[in-house]
Amino acid sequence: MRRRLWIVLLILMFWVQAVRASETQVAFLDVGQGDAIAIVTAHGGSMLIDAGTRKAGEEVVVPFFMNAGIDAIDVVVITHPHADHIGGLIPVLEQIPVDRIYANYDIHPTETYKELLLHIENLDIPFIRAEPGTGIDIEGIDRIEILHPGYPLSDDINNNSIVLRIEIEGISFLFTGDIESQVEEHLIQQQANLKARFIKAPHHGSKTSSHLGFLMAVQPSKAVISCGKANPYGHPDFEVLLRYAALGADIYRTDIHGTITVLIEDGSVDITTYKRRAALLAD
Ligand SMILES: [Zn+2]
Repeated sequence: MRRRLWIVLLILMFWVQAVRASETQVAFLDVGQGDAIAIVTAHGGSMLIDAGTRKAGEEVVVPFFMNAGIDAIDVVVITHPHADHIGGLIPVLEQIPVDRIYANYDIHPTETYKELLLHIENLDIPFIRAEPGTGIDIEGIDRIEILHPGYPLSDDINNNSIVLRIEIEGISFLFTGDIESQVEEHLIQQQANLKARFIKAPHHGSKTSSHLGFLMAVQPSKAVISCGKANPYGHPDFEVLLRYAALGADIYRTDIHGTITVLIEDGSVDITTYKRRAALLAD
């Protein structure tokens, strides 16, 4: 009798495992003013694109991976070294093993960046320069394409942001860091593969980005804006919102909707949102 109970329990555990492993989630985490996108695939692959501020890393990014049952992150991409994108990676590295990190090697002499680089060095994590053509393989992601930056870098940190396009089961995502219109224009001229169903709006929906020509090239049906509630920069810009709306793209905002999760299963898509009770205020 006891043996039968064990068998039933084991079957149940496998079933739970199978259900859990059947969908991929792309989560635009509610990190206040900043960016952090976490991807956990149906095949157990994992990726983090930026990590918000240090506080957001501790309160949002680390708990996300813990809750998802991820004990090691395959790939981290640092789009550019501003504190609202990299600060949260420090607590992540302190608590979760990371297999490799891609960055653009830009120089930014802040304490936060210095501390992060020391962590990466001490933990002996491969720190790889991402450039167009760099191949990144993650179990469960069909394609990861680096579109920007080229080298040598410019002297504008935002415009050196890594831009990447990802495809999972035919669903495409464009992650744009904090690029501005000049780079958007440059990518159009380069005939980069920009078309994507989902776009992470560049630079938190700033008026210096998301120009109409760029949005027409991307043709997104969903736009996600990652920004803090009542942030001092006025992100997102009202005209930018109008531009996305004019193209028929649904707009999701972390300051309004909280964490926005795209669930992909067998090529079909579902979007869920989760709002924390208290907004994460800037440090
Ligand atoms: Zn930023």
